[in-house]
Amino acid sequence: MTEPRKKVLVVDDDEMLRDLAADILSAEFEVQTAKDGQEGWEKAQAWRPDLVVTDLMMPRMHGYELCGLLKGKDGIPGVKIIVSSSKTFTTDVSQARAAGADEYLVKPYMPAEMLKLVRSLFGGAAPALAPEPEMAVTGRGAAPAPEELLARPAGNGRLPVYVRFWGTRGSCPTSNAKVAGYGGNTACVELRIGDTPFIFDCGTGLRELGDSLMAEFAGKPLQANIFVGHTHWDHIQGFPFFTPFYNPKNKFNIFSVHGAHGSLGRIFTQSMSLDYFPIPLTSLGARLGFVEMKGPVDLGAAKVSFQHLNHPGVCIGFRVETQGKVVTYLSDHEPFSKLGGVSDLSLRQDAEIAAFARGSDMVIREAQYTEAEYATRKGWGHATYDDAAKFALESGVKRMAITHHDPYHTDAMLDENIEYCRDLIRKGGGKTDCFGAREGMCLDI
Ligand SMILES: [Zn+2]
Ligand SMILES: [Zn+2]
Repeated sequence: MTEPRKKVLVVDDDEMLRDLAADILSAEFEVQTAKDGQEGWEKAQAWRPDLVVTDLMMPRMHGYELCGLLKGKDGIPGVKIIVSSSKTFTTDVSQARAAGADEYLVKPYMPAEMLKLVRSLFGGAAPALAPEPEMAVTGRGAAPAPEELLARPAGNGRLPVYVRFWGTRGSCPTSNAKVAGYGGNTACVELRIGDTPFIFDCGTGLRELGDSLMAEFAGKPLQANIFVGHTHWDHIQGFPFFTPFYNPKNKFNIFSVHGAHGSLGRIFTQSMSLDYFPIPLTSLGARLGFVEMKGPVDLGAAKVSFQHLNHPGVCIGFRVETQGKVVTYLSDHEPFSKLGGVSDLSLRQDAEIAAFARGSDMVIREAQYTEAEYATRKGWGHATYDDAAKFALESGVKRMAITHHDPYHTDAMLDENIEYCRDLIRKGGGKTDCFGAREGMCLDI
């Protein structure tokens, strides 16, 4: 009697790669496919595969979360996992393994490599480390539902929309006379739609935004939507210093996706644990809701969608559509073709990022290095001014604010770098108005 064929579930949002993997494997195994992590998780529970081959960056549910679920207490006992991704950051490989992946296969791969790997796994591999148990988030009171935080239309008129930069520095806050022009606070941008602030990233710039909102709302209840692209220090360090969090009248929803090692709420809870901060998250007075986005969210006057970016760990960009205007926030990101070399796949992935931003009235995006600097910083997850210019030409956006300035770049260096980027766009025949984001800068949309 022959043994039943092993069951392999292929999870990938890229149709071409999904079909390719299914083709390769179906010669020897029984194969099913799913188009994202969410569908993968549902199919895995119903079909109980022996092996799951999953991509990392997918809408609705990413690969780290899927790995955690598959190997978690309600997962599939004995299931093997291969993470197959074009992300080549060493931290992604180790994080995927920590999340439960048995193997990591870099895309694009040769069919024979995939087959060899799958056969070897079925030949008996060491069990992967179990993911850490989930920590409960015990916020004060119930979290506000996203629909409670609508940007309300004021009468029949169009709501005023503007962008204000509160933190434009990347990696590490910096303070000296030579950087004062562009500012030293880390990532924080306010997009105002009527009375409702939409806040992008919680770097140290968030502290001053908090003070400004406290003065503006002067005791009136404040509601805001906060979007966190990723939770590296330079994007969350202002979080505990946002004074509106300490007022019980206020409500906030914090939007992002599930973290590489656990829930969004858990990451913020841990960032304020006693090892790092004197006041725990549970002691904040305001109502906080942590929303792990699975797709676009409709917040009344604005629709917000997200896109995975190429940065170590989980990192997403946001696109906000409001009253016929579009603002896109993309930080941090190293172009795929820059990191992994030019291939059909990397060019397609880069084109996807440009397409995500297309039609934007303003894109706020990172560029941190000159080409010379990049040579020694490849794989750190950031772009160059040449990359930003290329992106402007490809996406054709109206305005592009360069942000996430390197802490070693003085005002004089930044002036020069931004001018260089503008010049590249001009020479390429582009019309994008490119400028360097400065702390305090406020622009109507
Ligand atoms: Zn950053
Ligand atoms: Zn980062």
